[in-house]
Amino acid sequence: MKCPFCHTGDTQVVDSRLTEAGDSVRRRRRCVGCNKRFTTYEIIELRLPQVIKSDNTRTEFSETKLRTGFLRALHKRPVETQAVDQAVARIKEQILALGEREIPSRMIGEMVMAELIKLDQVAYIRFASVYRSFNDVSDFHNVIQTMKANDTRQ
Ligand SMILES: [Zn+2]
Repeated sequence: MKCPFCHTGDTQVVDSRLTEAGDSVRRRRRCVGCNKRFTTYEIIELRLPQVIKSDNTRTEFSETKLRTGFLRALHKRPVETQAVDQAVARIKEQILALGEREIPSRMIGEMVMAELIKLDQVAYIRFASVYRSFNDVSDFHNVIQTMKANDTRQ
């Protein structure tokens, strides 16, 4: 960090604290060269990763696409919009928490399934049947088994 007064590259951090909003760090610094003090703010970078599609191409993460996936599966199902918003927010948080620059779209699909199974079982089957593009009866059977397992947990 260069001193803004004498441009010396050597400064000491005198004090560090999180800002009230909690999304940046305020640092009080002292220049070793001229002894003047100044303040810097460091912003925590939260970037959503690129999504690696099944054909190996990359695309920007899209919250709109994520929401559309939910809404399509939940079409005419008795689920509140607010519950969908919360599910979308939870998935975004999970993705951010990974801290990766790229994640496979499959991983997002699994996160959607994990949320849908809690929201509505019909929607879950709809999504799973398209998403996993069931190849045979055993795939479908597996989804039903997962649903049953989820039921007993509640
Ligand atoms: Zn200085």
